[in-house]
Amino acid sequence: MFEKMVDELKGAGVQLVAVSKTKSPDQILELYHKGQRVFGENKVQELVSKQEALPADIQWHLIGHLQTNKVKFIAPFVAMIQSVDSLKLLLEIDKQAAKCQRSIPCLLQFHIAEEETKFGLSLEEAEALLDSDAFRGLQHVRVAGVMGMATFTDDETQIAREFRRLRELFAALKARFFAEDPGFKEISMGMSSDYRIAVREGSTMVRIGTLLFGSRS
Ligand SMILES: *Cc1c(COP(=O)(O)O)cnc(C)c1O
Repeated sequence: MFEKMVDELKGAGVQLVAVSKTKSPDQILELYHKGQRVFGENKVQELVSKQEALPADIQWHLIGHLQTNKVKFIAPFVAMIQSVDSLKLLLEIDKQAAKCQRSIPCLLQFHIAEEETKFGLSLEEAEALLDSDAFRGLQHVRVAGVMGMATFTDDETQIAREFRRLRELFAALKARFFAEDPGFKEISMGMSSDYRIAVREGSTMVRIGTLLFGSRS
């Protein structure tokens, strides 16, 4: 499964984030030894303990909701925070990254699903954030793109429509705020059940757990 998926994604120029939440260090090492280096976790505690136990050249992405009081635990090592959904959170990431003398790549998480349950910004909220003086002063975060999750449904037309919406949000922000910044380039969308649709709709980064590791109990 892994090799086939890597080939398929490489052909499309899409980065694979292996979502290892609930999986053991040994299961992660198995993929590591096949060459995978980018892993995604959704809980801070779990991320920290796996980072301590596993090889230092793994690039860890946080993909789940992040509380400001937990940023300090991951700031020293996290490779990307994909789930930024407020200015307050971005300010705290900047503050903690400064203490570590590093700059942390972040994605703005958007609410694209038509269902009500998921976290994320609206276009208006993102524009207000990027327009603010507080944001412009930040030196230790790098906004590298956008992230979103489609509705959990069998309706592929709806999923494609939601992913298209994220691509359009990306393009709107790119034109207005990041026209001169080649670092703003990521559209993180697509999970086990919908990644092929996401790739067709312009994903640059997919986050896949179940298809690589088996289902979570
Ligand atoms: C769990 C999770 C994934 C991966 O889901 P699978 O269906 O197991 O591929 C992707 N993105 C986020 C934000 C997740 O929490």
